[in-house]
Parts: sequence; structure tokens; C-alpha cells
Amino acid sequence: MLTGTQISQCAVGVASLQNPVMPLVRLAQMLYLTSTHATFAPLLDELNEPVETNGVFYDDPAGLLREYLDILSIFERCKIPAAPSRIFLNEDMQPLDPYAALDSWVAQEIINRELETINSRLCAPCQCTLCCVGPDQSLNQDFFEIPLLDREIPFFDLSRIDSPESRQATSLAEPPLCLDGDRPFYEKSAALYHWQTGWSMVLPRDSYCPNLDPAGRGCKIYPQRPEVCRRPQIFSYVLERHEEMDQLYEGENLPAFVARKKLLAIWDCPYVRQFQDDIGRYGQLCEIEPVFKKNKE
Ligand code: SF4
Ligand code: SF4
Repeated sequence: MLTGTQISQCAVGVASLQNPVMPLVRLAQMLYLTSTHATFAPLLDELNEPVETNGVFYDDPAGLLREYLDILSIFERCKIPAAPSRIFLNEDMQPLDPYAALDSWVAQEIINRELETINSRLCAPCQCTLCCVGPDQSLNQDFFEIPLLDREIPFFDLSRIDSPESRQATSLAEPPLCLDGDRPFYEKSAALYHWQTGWSMVLPRDSYCPNLDPAGRGCKIYPQRPEVCRRPQIFSYVLERHEEMDQLYEGENLPAFVARKKLLAIWDCPYVRQFQDDIGRYGQLCEIEPVFKKNKE
């Protein structure tokens, strides 16, 4: 568990968990549907008084919602018809009704953005490096993998494995990719691999990311850290991507999503364990079910 000092350093992040934006978003959506406005921007101009909804108090509702205006515009498809760009299904793989589809899409994007901020507020005080190191001897996994975008590769001073064999394999393929004769790739040092699915950094047992400061000052490239390192340990699972249900529409591939209405929280993370009650309440206020899951066994 976290120390008293660490808990107090997490206060801003916990306050954000206790005051999620989603109840306000749902209120704004109802007001939008019953208004004559075609877009959200003029509606926000009218939300200039403090409001309370679902037990959460918002001092400056318009200011807060403006931070999410680009996402709220998705909901404007209720009034401004647009060509389909995604497929939304329920858990029986039947089409979601249009309102539920747009509500889920907006919720997924808003919760993810909000949780990215909350994560950075909660992670730093923990002084934890779990996301940046390979498995230790107590864990069953042989390696951890951090997927990387092409543009992120130059940030990592590691050897690169990019061969016809690696490009035909995935990190979880059986038998595993072997290097230097018959040694599985994860028995080598930390390295970057170009797989069939793109680049990733592989951290074998007891290894660590080269950007982790050995003096304990955290990530040396924090402002430029990869996308995946910005992702929270609590994340929205309102929608789950299902590539096999993609559909072609007028020559374009429309990505398919299944509505799950869940909030996933990774139990390995110290702030998830410490603030599990606040995370549960956050899920309730966002109208999604919190699920706590252990990642590293
Ligand atoms: S880039 Fe930074 S945040 Fe990402 S794994 Fe390395 S040290 Fe950790
Ligand atoms: S496990 Fe949690 S606290 Fe630890 S580095 Fe990852 S996000 Fe931060």
C-alpha cells in the first residue's frame, strides 16, 4: 500500500476520480437533444452557472465541457446526418440503436482522455517502475512487451531485430522466434523487434527500459514517452474492438466495436489497489461496471 505522504500527493488525482466529467456530459447530451441547437458550442454558452448532477458539483460546466468539445461533436450526428464510419454491436452481435451507439462512442473517448490525466496524477507519487521493467523471478511470464509506433523507435537505444523471420512472427507465436541458433528471443537482452504486427520493445526477465533512470528519477524521456506509456492502468472498456465484424461500406472498411460498458482496472498497479473504492464509484458515476484484473502473474 502507499504511504501517507504518497496518498496525500495523489489527492488531486483522487479528486478527479471522485468528480468525473461523464455525469455532466450526459446532462449536456439531454439538454442538447431537447434544444434547437444543431451543435454543442452554442449550448455550452448557456451553461455558465454552476450545476450539480448525480451528486457531482461542477463549478464551471461550460469550461470543463469545452475541453471535450471535439469528442462531444460526435454526438451531433443525432441531428446532423453523417456517413457511417463505424459499426456498433451489442454483446449478441446485433446492431446497437443509434443513440446507444453514439453515447457509447462519446463515453469511450471521454473516459479514456480523462483517465489519461488521472493516471499521470496518480502514477508519479507512487514512485513505481512496474510498467518499465521485465518480469522478476516471482512472475510466470518470460518477458513483457511494450508496443511502439514507428516514430517512437529512435527514443530507444537498443538493438533492433528486423528480419523476414521476425516480420512473419508475433511475440506470442509458438514456437517462438529463435535467435543465435535455437535460443528463444526472450532469453536475449532487451531489444526492439519488428513483428508482423509492428514494432515492440521486449523486456526479458530482470531487464528494464533503457529510458528508466537508474538513479530513481523515473522516465528520462517523460515528455516524449510513447503512447502506450501514457495509457492508464484504469481504462475505459465501454467499447471493444472486434476486427472480425468489420464491414465494407461504399468501398471503405468500417471498424466494428462491441458495447461492453466496463471499466478495467489493473490490480498490479499500486494506486489501483489503494484507491479501489474511488475507482468503483468512478465507474458507477460513468454508468459502467468496474472490473479489477491482474495482468502480471
Ligand atoms: S519510455 Fe519511459 S515510461 Fe515508457 S517504459 Fe521506458 S521508462 Fe517507462
Ligand atoms: S503500475 Fe501504476 S504506479 Fe506503477 S508505473 Fe505503472 S501506472 Fe505507474
